[in-house]
Amino acid sequence: MQTRWENETTPGIRIGEITFGNPALKGHTCPIIELSGAEAGPRLCVMAGIHINEASSIAAAIAIAGDFDPRHFRGTLSIIPIVSTHNIFKYTAVSPPSGDRDLHWSYPGNPQGTFNDCLADALINEWAANADVLVDMHGGDLDERMARYVVIQSTGDPEFDARAEAAAACFDTPLVVALHASAMNEPGRCCTALAARRRIALVSEAGDFGMADPDSIAWHRNGIRELAALLGMTGGNVREPRAQQYLDQYEWITSPESGIVEKAFKPGDWIEEGACIGIVTDHYGREKAAIRAPQAGYVMMQKSLQFAPRGFWIGAVARPRG
Ligand SMILES: [Zn+2]
Repeated sequence: MQTRWENETTPGIRIGEITFGNPALKGHTCPIIELSGAEAGPRLCVMAGIHINEASSIAAAIAIAGDFDPRHFRGTLSIIPIVSTHNIFKYTAVSPPSGDRDLHWSYPGNPQGTFNDCLADALINEWAANADVLVDMHGGDLDERMARYVVIQSTGDPEFDARAEAAAACFDTPLVVALHASAMNEPGRCCTALAARRRIALVSEAGDFGMADPDSIAWHRNGIRELAALLGMTGGNVREPRAQQYLDQYEWITSPESGIVEKAFKPGDWIEEGACIGIVTDHYGREKAAIRAPQAGYVMMQKSLQFAPRGFWIGAVARPRG
C-alpha cells in the first residue's frame, strides 16, 4: 500500500490518495483522510463507500475528521470515505451475498482472487492491519430503506464478545445484529473476518434510498465520536451503555411469486414467523400469493422495488438471540 499525501488541510489532519501493491488492484485509488493526535494512542479505521450509493455514510465519513481537535486527540483516525471509487458514476447497487458476491460479503478476501477478493484483502491486511477497531459505514442503497443498526460478529469468547458489544453500544440504536459464531466459517462482512482473528470491526447502517440525510449522517458521526471516547482517544465522556438487543439470525425476506409486490412491513417493525406481511399481485391487482415472514424478528431493511421476480429479496429480518 502506498499513500501520496497532500498538504495538511488543518494542523493534524492530512488528506491523500492510497494505492495498493496487488497487481489486480493496479490503477485503483481511494481518497484517505487521516487525523494524527498530539499523543500516540489507538488506531481507529473508518471506511465508507463500499456501496457507492449509500450517501449518508459517505457524507459522514468525509466529515468526521472535522469532529475532533488533533491537539486533544490520542492516536490516529484513518478514514477512507470512498472505497469503491471504480463504481463512481456507475450507480452499482448492493448485491445479495449469494450469487455474484460484492465486496461487502468478500472478507477476508484473497490476494489471488477476484478484484473484490483482492480489495477486501488489501483493506483489512494492509490499510487496517493495525486498527484497534475498524468501522465499515453503510446505509440505504438507491432501492433500500434501513433501520438504524450495527452489525458485529459473535465468537463465543465472552471477553471478545463483550468488547465488540461495547463498541456497538456507541451507536444510538436498540438493534445490534450480533451474528452467530457459526457465520465465521464463511466469507462475509469485515466484522466476521476480523472476529476470527479476535479483532473488532463493526458495520454501521443508517440511511435510505441513496439520499444524504442529516439525521443519518449525524447518527454515524455521533457513533464514531463515542467510539473514539470509548477507546480513550478523546477526553470525551464515555456514555452509559445503551440497552441493546442482540439479533443473531439475519434472514432475507423474498418474493414468493413474480409480480407486483405490495409490502405491509417497514424497517423497525416486529413481525412473527409466517405472518402475512404483504401480497404479490398480477398486473390487474389480483392477488397471486401472500408474502410470509421467514422468521420472527425485527425488519432491518426493505427494498423499494415494485416488480419482483420469484425469490428476489425484498427485505431482511433479524431474530433476537436465544
Ligand atoms: Zn451497504
